Amino acid sequence: MKHYVYADNAATTKMDKVAYEAMTPYFLEEYGNASQSYAFSRTPKKALKEARETIASCIGAFSDEIYFTSGGTESDNWAIKGVATSNERKYTIITSSFEHHAVLHSCTAMEKLGHQIVYLKPEKTGEISPDVLKREITEDTKLVSVMYANNEIGSIQPIKDLSDIAHEKGVLFHTDAVQVVGHVDIDVHSLGVDMLSASAHKFNGMKGCGFLYVRKSCDLIPYVDGGAQESGSRAGTENIPGIVAMAAALKNNCDHLEENSKKITSLENEFLRMLAESNIPFVRNGGLHTLPGLISLSFPGADGEAILHRLDLLGICISTGSACNSQNTEISHVLKAIDLSDEYAKGTIRISLGKNNTMKDVEKIVSGLKKILVK
Ligand code: PLP
Repeated sequence: MKHYVYADNAATTKMDKVAYEAMTPYFLEEYGNASQSYAFSRTPKKALKEARETIASCIGAFSDEIYFTSGGTESDNWAIKGVATSNERKYTIITSSFEHHAVLHSCTAMEKLGHQIVYLKPEKTGEISPDVLKREITEDTKLVSVMYANNEIGSIQPIKDLSDIAHEKGVLFHTDAVQVVGHVDIDVHSLGVDMLSASAHKFNGMKGCGFLYVRKSCDLIPYVDGGAQESGSRAGTENIPGIVAMAAALKNNCDHLEENSKKITSLENEFLRMLAESNIPFVRNGGLHTLPGLISLSFPGADGEAILHRLDLLGICISTGSACNSQNTEISHVLKAIDLSDEYAKGTIRISLGKNNTMKDVEKIVSGLKKILVK
């Protein structure tokens, strides 16, 4: 296989070996259905219970607050639609204009049912100001949903402050933490969120697997009807290999959080230092408080799409914006939300470094950018 420099870890990550090894017995040996009561199903049933406990302990939750889903998209859909459709009333839902489409499109669907949606505008730095939420929240607000960190520009939101404001008004608070779980220390109870979405493939687990944290006191309606799995809230035979891998990957990342973060931050700093030395004019989007390794860069006058393709020819994988939206060549809603001018937005790329990247990778990316951008 050709060797690629993979610098698109915000799109997906390589599965950890520990996760891969943890899941393999559940394909050919321990393939029993966890819902059955015979002895053969004991091991998968136990694995499911342990995975739930492991995941809960990694984010400071109780194990019965973790609901397994098919990933971040489903978790976001459940949180928003589950709250909005819990009874016949029509509510106001507050979100931000630069959420992932899993949140934005769920909100649009709720708007069609008669709910009102309010979109908070981020600052140019990519931060949702708590004062903006204070101004918009009213007695009619049922839910606030603001992402923990933006997937295109990496800006981290003041989640504790935002959830405190929601709770002062008796409003539920959901956060899409898909880019954050497994990369930043999270304690859901001290963070004060009622619901939190996560996706395994963003933290070195398997694709098509995730979870929704739902605080015990939060009455969320079932999302998938059918069997009694997930306490009757999300029917369907559990993806035991994926769930086992997700728990192993999350534990592995959480056990090495500081070490990984230090490594990624030093790669990021070195990348930015080398890029600055190259005399290529650029701005970095996302303000001062960003996820380690997530680097959104705008090169004025350049074409982000062309940079992506030319780096691809050099065996380097990066993204122009959100990976979930790669078919769409329009200027991303995130860059529009932070009022980036069209000239800069068109020349924007996202490099997302992960724990498996090396200094050699960073050197190759900078050298590739120089080949493309130095006149
Ligand atoms: N939310 C955010 C912030 C994301 O970055 C993504 C994927 O890129 C998702 C949700 C969707 O997650 P999944 O791919 O698990 O459906």
